[in-house]
Amino acid sequence: MSATLITTAGSGFDVEKLRNDFPALHQDVHGKPLVYLDNAASGQKPLAVIEAIDHYYRHDHANVHRGVHTLGERATAAYEGAREKMRIFLNARDVNEIVFVRGLTEAVNLVANTFGRERFGPDKTVLLTRMEHHSNIIPWQLVCAQTGGGLKVAPINDRGELIVEEFEKLLTPDVALVAMVHVSNAIGTINPVRECIALAHARGIPILVDGAQAAPHMPVDVQDLDCDFYCVAGHKMFGPTGIGVLYGKAEHLENMPPWQGGGEMIRRVTFDSSDYAAPPARFEAGTPNIAGAVGLGATVDYLQSVGMSSIAAYEQELLTYATEILSGVEGVRLVGTAQDKAAVISFVVDGVHPHDLGTVLDRQAGVAIRAGHHCCMPLMEFFGVPATARASFAFYNTRDEVDVLASAVANARKIFN
Ligand code: PMP
Repeated sequence: MSATLITTAGSGFDVEKLRNDFPALHQDVHGKPLVYLDNAASGQKPLAVIEAIDHYYRHDHANVHRGVHTLGERATAAYEGAREKMRIFLNARDVNEIVFVRGLTEAVNLVANTFGRERFGPDKTVLLTRMEHHSNIIPWQLVCAQTGGGLKVAPINDRGELIVEEFEKLLTPDVALVAMVHVSNAIGTINPVRECIALAHARGIPILVDGAQAAPHMPVDVQDLDCDFYCVAGHKMFGPTGIGVLYGKAEHLENMPPWQGGGEMIRRVTFDSSDYAAPPARFEAGTPNIAGAVGLGATVDYLQSVGMSSIAAYEQELLTYATEILSGVEGVRLVGTAQDKAAVISFVVDGVHPHDLGTVLDRQAGVAIRAGHHCCMPLMEFFGVPATARASFAFYNTRDEVDVLASAVANARKIFN
């Protein structure tokens, strides 16, 4: 099957053309063309993003919100312009609901240390799901250790799907907040977040959604979801590292205390006390990652030019194909087989440790996958495995690459058995 034949009917989705936008995809690794299937860990960057950052540093760089000079104005316009692009991308109501942070991890820590800290206490809990990434577990644990209270965990079934009835039963008055992942990075499950948000809200419980693996792969509309907070990591959506977004409803952000203190997050400062700026500035102390925001803005332009619905449709086709091909390889067992799933395939191979598999795939076939617990140790424990191999796809991956993966896995099994 030739990659050049893979277009999504009628949508004009031409994967070969899109691949040309990504310089890093066109290289050999150990003498083989790179097959990059580690997109859940981080996405590659289109030229448009690389060039936007390059242009910014060559022509427009100065500090933001300070200078009365031309470069300061340009940098501020680029930074604030990126915020507006992210507002449109997530369909937030107001641009001030978009807070730039260092990444998804920082977004969760921010909410835990402000909104969370004010609501937690000895009798309070945070409701999570069994499939959370460590960055949506540890921040809550850290704050609960100081305020009292603890975590409750909604269970999943053997396919790796949230058991919604059990989730609902756990929404008791002690729950101060729900924090759940939209799409599991480890097994690809797409959670019914809209339904979960409605269930939580029916009991007056706010909810934070970890959108790290959703935003790069499907349209996200925070108004339609009605979530209280939504977190995004720039580097997973083919943007720069070191930048992410916390979306928060204005009514929450306006009432939240600052988290970090410093320049630009204040209105007035005296040695006795200070007044804080309105959101989002209140949560962006110090010089921000301006170039990162500029790059993220360019990423949004790029993704919108491709079309998030087309991306989602193409990746679903690729997932169907990859699931069929990989599950046909002798000795392969898929871990996580949710009905509603994003293009992530976790698997184990008889007699081959995932780390060995990852190394052999890289050295012998130029295939980059991830091996390990994927920062989801409680989920691995549920499935009774210390680690899995994970192939995670993006819209620039092809069926040919799936074929290379499958034959490399089959060869690796022969080597070890
Ligand atoms: N949540 C999920 C679902 C993730 O996939 C990741 C990254 N693997 C994170 C949170 C953490 O993101 P970051 O390391 O970019 O802060």
